Amino acid sequence: MRIIILGPPGVGKGTQSALIAKKLSLKHLSTGEILRRAVFEGTELGKKAKAIMDAGELVSDSIMIGIIRDCLQSKEINQGFILDGFPRTTTQAEDLDKLFDELKIDDIKILCLNADKDELIKRMSGRGRRDDNIETISNRLNIYKEQTLPVKEYYRKSKKVYEIVGLGDIDIINDNIFKLLTLKDEHNVNA
Ligand code: AMP
Repeated sequence: MRIIILGPPGVGKGTQSALIAKKLSLKHLSTGEILRRAVFEGTELGKKAKAIMDAGELVSDSIMIGIIRDCLQSKEINQGFILDGFPRTTTQAEDLDKLFDELKIDDIKILCLNADKDELIKRMSGRGRRDDNIETISNRLNIYKEQTLPVKEYYRKSKKVYEIVGLGDIDIINDNIFKLLTLKDEHNVNA
């Protein structure tokens, strides 16, 4: 199965992606994690990304699509993947579509996890990550609204976007995601 998970920062994309990846034996591709690891290891990518991430800004589309190209070309994704944190701009979404065409990857499911702004601020403030201070949080939420929400509209034009409420118990949210994913599968089998 191939899944893209969309949603604002702090909504629990990482947590839910990890659970889904484990249950379905998918590769969890988190661009935030890839970048944080690069910063930690002090690689060239990490040096470029650090200040941008600390400010809650977005790393450039060309760097990001390069990272995703490497991931999608690796054998590790043969069993399927869940893409978490990418695409974050419509340019990234368009480039990703081209990449999927090129690599003959199709049948992508789009999940969108949602929560209201107060809840997101509360959650991010409690995470203790270095990009979770109050200025960075509000910048990240603004950037989400301006640059990433249009990605959802982009996908709505060609695909079904599954909306999930990201509030409440982690396991219940996860069950809801599974119900949606299974529904689609049954529909496909009967089609
Ligand atoms: P995340 O863990 O997904 O919230 O990502 C943490 C930070 O990494 C973001 O605030 C951005 O600075 C950067 N980042 C992650 N994914 C992307 C992306 N697809 N495009 C641009 N920047 C990204």
